[in-house]
Amino acid sequence: MGLMGRKIKAIRAYVVEGGGADYHDQSADHWIVKQIATPMSIYPEYKATRTSFGINALKTLVVEVEADNGVTGFGITTGGYPAAWLVMNHLDRFVVGKDANSIEIIWDQMYRASLYYGRKGIVMNAISAIDLALWDLLGRLREEPVYAMLGGKVREELTFYATGPRPDLAKGMGFVGGKIPLVYGQADGNEGLRKNIETLKTMRERVGDDFLLMWDCWMALDLPYAKKLMTESAEYGLQWMEECFNPDDYWSYRDLKKCAPNKMWVTGGEHEASRYGFRALIEECDLDVIQPDVGWCGGLTELIKIGNLADAHGKLVIPHGSGVYSYHYVTTKVNSPITECLMMAPQADKVVPQYYPLIKDEPMPVNGKLKVSDKPGFGVELNKDKTLVEVKKGTHL
Ligand SMILES: [Mg+2]
Repeated sequence: MGLMGRKIKAIRAYVVEGGGADYHDQSADHWIVKQIATPMSIYPEYKATRTSFGINALKTLVVEVEADNGVTGFGITTGGYPAAWLVMNHLDRFVVGKDANSIEIIWDQMYRASLYYGRKGIVMNAISAIDLALWDLLGRLREEPVYAMLGGKVREELTFYATGPRPDLAKGMGFVGGKIPLVYGQADGNEGLRKNIETLKTMRERVGDDFLLMWDCWMALDLPYAKKLMTESAEYGLQWMEECFNPDDYWSYRDLKKCAPNKMWVTGGEHEASRYGFRALIEECDLDVIQPDVGWCGGLTELIKIGNLADAHGKLVIPHGSGVYSYHYVTTKVNSPITECLMMAPQADKVVPQYYPLIKDEPMPVNGKLKVSDKPGFGVELNKDKTLVEVKKGTHL
């Protein structure tokens, strides 16, 4: 039997605790759960750690699909039990028994059928995981890497910037830039602002002029504070201000972009979903860079549409995290010049796998570079030794 007519015979959903795609699910000594400005930082009792307000509550979702010849594909994102339940009790009907080539119609049916409660958030996480699993499966059936199915590479190697509190160390590891999580928000007043600027100044002194430095603001700010931070950061050659506001507050993004100094970029979109959400960020807010997460925005099928829209508007697409799932996309797109590497070592002092220990042979940048694998699908294997809790159809949580 050829590829045409190959049917999907099963879908399975698993939840994993302790890292994986839910990269906030880390021990207390990890930089990513310590004090970083968040939307909850205005409340003193939820400021000191990000786990205090439940940033690690969701856990990781793994979706596996199996074709009628036994070949499997998998996708990983966040969403945990609620997303796994949706996969097995609602979205599964659009997948099981369908043709393995039918990625577009499966996506469209999942999205339309969940519009009345979905569109963003956990539902889009679930749709994204299924979509990534379907691309992985199709690649394995065709014996082609996903990047080849997207049209082939436009760059042989990816170039990385690092996200974490130590851009100075990242420079030594071969990265071209460092994105610093902002520690103090508007509730910390002018003293907090001074400390933020002091951090930027120190890092600029350590990395020199030609290394990119950015702020990651994780939805934490209001417009007046973001304007002050942007103005004072310009002096130290800040490359971009990332995700300053509540993702629904398009008006603040628009207004910040309008007053951005020359050469400084306003970016966002990691918690945005679908081509419609990104249309607002591109056309109404005029963001310089959009940062869809392929595990949250609707999967690879939707990322292609989002990215094409950005391209037509002369915008860059620098996807948020998502490791190997992003790499296959980025290597095929001219308007995706650099790639994010989340520094998942607790002290951000070395490069470690983002999805550890869920992916067996997870590719990582070496000296800030990576060549995307030629293996079929996304080119990685699921580590089933890791405790995967299967959520079966009909399960009541
Ligand atoms: Mg970010």
